[in-house]
Amino acid sequence: MSDLALPRAGEARATAEVLARLPSVDRLLAQPALGALVASHGHAFVKRAIQDALGAARERIRAGAEAPAFDALIDDAAARVHALAAPRMTPVFNLTGTVIHTNLGRALLADEAIDAVAAAMRGYAALEYDVATGGRGDRDAIVEDLLRELTGAEAATVVNNCAAAVLLALKALAAKKEVLISRGELIEIGGSFRMPDIMKAAGCKLVEVGTTNRTHARDFESAFGPKTGLVAKAHTSNYAVTGFTASVDEAELARIAHAHGVPFIVDLGSGALIDLSVYGLPKEPLPQEALAAGADLVMFSGDKLLGGPQAGIVVGRREPIARIKRDPLKRALRVSKLTLAALEATLRVYASGHRLPERLPTLALLARERNDIRATAERLKPALQAAVGDAFAVTVEDCASQIGSGAQPIERLPSAALAVRAPAKAKGRVIESLEKRLRGLPVPVVGRMHDGALWLDCRCLLPGDEPRFVDNLRTVRPLSPAPLPQGEGGGSSNDRPQADR
Ligand SMILES: *Cc1c(COP(=O)(O)O)cnc(C)c1O
Repeated sequence: MSDLALPRAGEARATAEVLARLPSVDRLLAQPALGALVASHGHAFVKRAIQDALGAARERIRAGAEAPAFDALIDDAAARVHALAAPRMTPVFNLTGTVIHTNLGRALLADEAIDAVAAAMRGYAALEYDVATGGRGDRDAIVEDLLRELTGAEAATVVNNCAAAVLLALKALAAKKEVLISRGELIEIGGSFRMPDIMKAAGCKLVEVGTTNRTHARDFESAFGPKTGLVAKAHTSNYAVTGFTASVDEAELARIAHAHGVPFIVDLGSGALIDLSVYGLPKEPLPQEALAAGADLVMFSGDKLLGGPQAGIVVGRREPIARIKRDPLKRALRVSKLTLAALEATLRVYASGHRLPERLPTLALLARERNDIRATAERLKPALQAAVGDAFAVTVEDCASQIGSGAQPIERLPSAALAVRAPAKAKGRVIESLEKRLRGLPVPVVGRMHDGALWLDCRCLLPGDEPRFVDNLRTVRPLSPAPLPQGEGGGSSNDRPQADR
């Protein structure tokens, strides 16, 4: 051993001594603070948290740190217990300005739906059981009459989501056949729903008709061949083709398809069941309109404008619905009793036609007027200013919300926001750092970065939520407008107007 190695060997000895002084798992488990956590969270979580805390301490010691204080170890283990027990799907405040935000869970459900789901979870339910005959029932029957009544369809079925509904309809009606669709409607919805890919997965051959901006009836007429099995139309829900455009409407497409003896289906996506212009909102195409125009099947989501649970609803003529229900894929894509409970209760609200905006929270948020939103922003401004500190400028400003999830991407809803700006002299990513801190609160606050400011659109913060919002803000760590080290900004990904659909 050379002389040079001696100090290192000495260091190693010292490190070993420090490591040996760390308390044992059992000794920490016996501490009252951690014992109390065993009572509430169980032995396994607490033991694992202690092992993790000791492991982290050993690593720091090997890197040259001193041994941690005994109390610090207890605190670290306790924090780790809480982290282990905390749900991943934590509630958040959605101040992005996008009401039906796919990444934040889309629609908020009616109390009736929430109660129905709770009841279905607690007890047995007549899911596929006919209580009148004592025989086996069909789970679709739970919502079929309501859907028929609301859309005028002959029959209906429900699967996991609208993407599944489209996949299933294509496969059941046109596997191994050609499907005609306008080139302007080869949509991509966030999360990798692409019409051409869905066609391929369904075993259909996509035939693009017309051009991106203009498709005419004669284009469809000339696209028919011996292998054509279906004509499809997709609601171009998350973009708009404007300018020199032409498309073929549902009635005409239905006529052309039927003249050639093939069915016509419509992927509507957002799926409002009522004319939203009654509530001052842009009018969305309705399933009942597409059916009245001659569509054989219409598919739409349960958790977009309908304001219900995630589901893919298919309404239409009896025969194609029966074909869908016979397809083995239907079994693979079927919905649970929880979905059906929520969907049935939601549809019943529509069927009653009674006090809809009060009972359907998604509709209430969409229909909320700017004055009301502005009042919320004004009430919250002092609490936000106190939380972020005087160095930041907090103002109440007009902004525009979006419906989200592919409803009328061009239309904006007049709204109001709390805008937070960094001091003019501040350097570095100060606003990004603030945005990250707000996301780090016990109930994360998710806003939108725009033009170097943080925008907290107050549309989705109802007056009843305000006290909870203010309490949550009280836990903000003191903020410094001073330049922060690189990386503190935490890469917000929500600068886009609409992250995902
Ligand atoms: C949103 C959407 C879909 C996908 O619906 P999910 O319920 O999310 O599966 C399909 N088509 C259109 C036109 C849509 O807008």
